[in-house]
Amino acid sequence: MRYDPDNIFAKIIRNEIPCHKIYEDAYTLAFMDVMPQVEGHCLVVPKTGSRNLLDANPDVVVKVMATVQKVASAAMKALVADGVQIRQYNEAVAGQTVFHLHFHILPMKAGTDLKHHSGALAEPVDLERQAEQIRLALP
Ligand code: 5GP
Repeated sequence: MRYDPDNIFAKIIRNEIPCHKIYEDAYTLAFMDVMPQVEGHCLVVPKTGSRNLLDANPDVVVKVMATVQKVASAAMKALVADGVQIRQYNEAVAGQTVFHLHFHILPMKAGTDLKHHSGALAEPVDLERQAEQIRLALP
């Protein structure tokens, strides 16, 4: 299946729509998920387009994973979490809803229940506060 350059994450990368940005480098961008499943739920995307992991350039995957590692550590620290889940879906049947490669970072505390995937929109003020906490915890 083909990559659609007008998907929502491509628009965020092009600054056509806003996001609560955490981190950016030449290859990747990290920002808050607007329908978080836990506090601190954020996403890492490559700046180059691929639908998901299956059609991504392996060199791009390496760059993305370096950012995932960096942001996951910072999110754990910022949220004072006990662990962190990394999730990634490929195609609709596997749960993918936005067709631009992305990794979910979900800081987990003991006893935390995950909310529904793509469930309720969070308050922008809460997302911005969490983005700032994670930014401050970056190396
Ligand atoms: P997927 O199911 O494709 O792995 O997850 C897509 C994620 O993107 C979901 O967790 C959903 O909450 C999030 N999402 C959908 N639309 C937007 C948006 O416009 N901005 C941000 N920041 N996240 C979004």
